[in-house]
Amino acid sequence: MIKFRDLQAQYQHLKQQIDDAVTNVMTSGGFILGKEVLELEKRLAEYVGVKHCVTCANGTDALQLAAMTLNLGKDDIVFVPDFTFFSSGEIVSLVGAIPVFVDVDRRSFNISPEALEKAVEAIAIEGKYKPKAVVAVDLFGLPAPYPELRKVCNKYDLALIEDSAQGFGGRIGNKVAGSFGDIATTSFFPAKPLGCYGDGGAVFTDNDKWADILRSLRVHGKGDNKYDNVRIGMNSRLDAIQAAILSVKLNAFEDYELDAVNQVAKRYNEMLADIEGLILPEIPEGYYSSYAQYTIVLNNQSKRDGLQEHLKSKNIPSMVYYPKPMHSQQAFAPYNFDTECLDVTKKLSETVLSLPMHPYLKDEQVAEVCEAVRYYMTAQ
Ligand SMILES: *Cc1c(COP(=O)(O)O)cnc(C)c1O
Repeated sequence: MIKFRDLQAQYQHLKQQIDDAVTNVMTSGGFILGKEVLELEKRLAEYVGVKHCVTCANGTDALQLAAMTLNLGKDDIVFVPDFTFFSSGEIVSLVGAIPVFVDVDRRSFNISPEALEKAVEAIAIEGKYKPKAVVAVDLFGLPAPYPELRKVCNKYDLALIEDSAQGFGGRIGNKVAGSFGDIATTSFFPAKPLGCYGDGGAVFTDNDKWADILRSLRVHGKGDNKYDNVRIGMNSRLDAIQAAILSVKLNAFEDYELDAVNQVAKRYNEMLADIEGLILPEIPEGYYSSYAQYTIVLNNQSKRDGLQEHLKSKNIPSMVYYPKPMHSQQAFAPYNFDTECLDVTKKLSETVLSLPMHPYLKDEQVAEVCEAVRYYMTAQ
C-alpha cells in the first residue's frame, strides 16, 4: 500500500534507536529544554551553518518568535507569498503587522523577486505604511531565490525572514536552508523533511543579540531567571523526548533520507517526462531541494481533479497543496488586496497536485504511481 508520507516505515527502520533514546529521557528526567535539547540545537546550528539555533514548540511559534525578535508590529508591512501554508501570513497578523501577499513564480512556486519589488514600490508610493520585512518560504523543499531577494531587501531596507518549515536540507550551492534569512525558522511537524513525533520548531540566526532575545521570549520573556520577566513572551519550548527522537532522525536524514527523496524525484522525473499535459518540478541550476513535496501542474482544474480521482480509485494518495491562495482566505478578509497581480497563485491553486513522496518509497511503488498517471493522461 502506497503512503503519501510513510512515517511507519521510517519508525520500523529506526525503532531500536528511537525507543532507546526516548527511554533514556524518561529515565534521566529533564523533560523541558533538557540536555538533549541543547545538544540538538548545537547540531542543528552546525548543520545549517549559523551561530545559533533556538528550538521552540512548533514552526508557527518559530515564525512568531522571529517576528517578535524583529519588533514587527502596528503599521508595519510584511510581504508574504500568496502561495504557501497559512502560518506564513498568520504570524504577521498575530504580531499586529499587516501582511501583503505577493505572487509566486509559476515554475519554482516560490515568491517572485519582480513581483516583490512591484509590491514594495506600490506601498512606498501610497506612503501610508512602512514596508518592513519579507517572509520568504522554501516551498516544497526548494530554497527561495535568495540572491535576487537579498538585492530587493537591501534596496528597500527590508528584513528577510526565511520560513524553511518545508526547506530543511535544501541548498543553494553549498549554503544550507535556514542560513539565508536574517532570521530563519523551521518546523519539526511529523510530515516535514525532518519531523519529530509531535510538534516542534526552531529559529536560526547569526545575530547574538537576537539569539538572547529568542531564548528569553520562549520562556515568558525571562530575564535572569524564569521568575524575572523583562518582556512579554510566549511559552514555547521543545521537549527533550522530541529532541532525542530528532537527533536519531537527523542521523538518518544526513546519512540517506535526503539522498533517497532526491532519487525518488529523479525517478518520477524520468518516468513522467514524456507525458503530455504535465509540468514537472524544476530545480534551478545550483539549487538542491529537500523535496518536502513532489508537485506536478496540470493544464486545468478538471484535469487535476480528474487525475486525483483516478489515483484515488487505484488507492494512490495525492494532495492539493494549496487549494486556496492566502489572499482569498476569509481570515484575511479585513485587509484590502490588489488581487489582480496574484494570477499565478490563483492558477496554481487550481492545477497543482502533490504525489506520494518520502525516503522509503520503493522503485516499484514510484512506477505504480507513474503508470496510473500515464493511464489517466493518455486515456483522455
Ligand atoms: C508547516 C508549515 C509551517 C508551520 O509549522 P507548524 O510546526 O505546523 O506550526 C509554517 N510554514 C510553512 C510553509 C509550513 O509548511
